[in-house]
Amino acid sequence: VVETRDGTIAVASAFPGHQEAVQDRDHKFLSKAVEEAYKGVDCGHGGPFGAVVVRNDEVIVGCHNMVLNNTDPTAHAEVTAIREACKKLGKIELSDCEMYASCEPCPMCFGAVHLSRIKVHPLPYHSSSGTIWFIESLINNLVECCNAEAGVRSQGGSCYCHWIRRLHC
Ligand SMILES: [Zn+2]
Repeated sequence: VVETRDGTIAVASAFPGHQEAVQDRDHKFLSKAVEEAYKGVDCGHGGPFGAVVVRNDEVIVGCHNMVLNNTDPTAHAEVTAIREACKKLGKIELSDCEMYASCEPCPMCFGAVHLSRIKVHPLPYHSSSGTIWFIESLINNLVECCNAEAGVRSQGGSCYCHWIRRLHC
């Protein structure tokens, strides 16, 4: 694992095209999370945030923020996705799953990630330790993630603007 000049993480290629394949996969699932964010805004369920839970390249659940719909301030996309995935898989431990979220998780969602042991993708920026399980470095990641407003997540930012525009029309 190497850190590139712009601070993003690259995984050394095991074979030609490996890195591109990883990026395509991340992009595909992250795009689904962003789609969920837009869906949530368009149906007025809550804030502009989406999350998907993936296992073995299969989307288990795709959820968005449900705070308004459920009248529940804890119904963030990530928490909702963890709840739904646990229900669907019939277990409380998601270490064989990965989560893609349209935005860096807030402290509450970090807590839910920690408790469920789900792995979060893409990797936090500015990390040099490779695949990070949040359970290992919760606080460090929190600091790193608060600074991460770049890259592919700018799509999530566009959804935020979409949400603001809807609020004002
Ligand atoms: Zn949250």
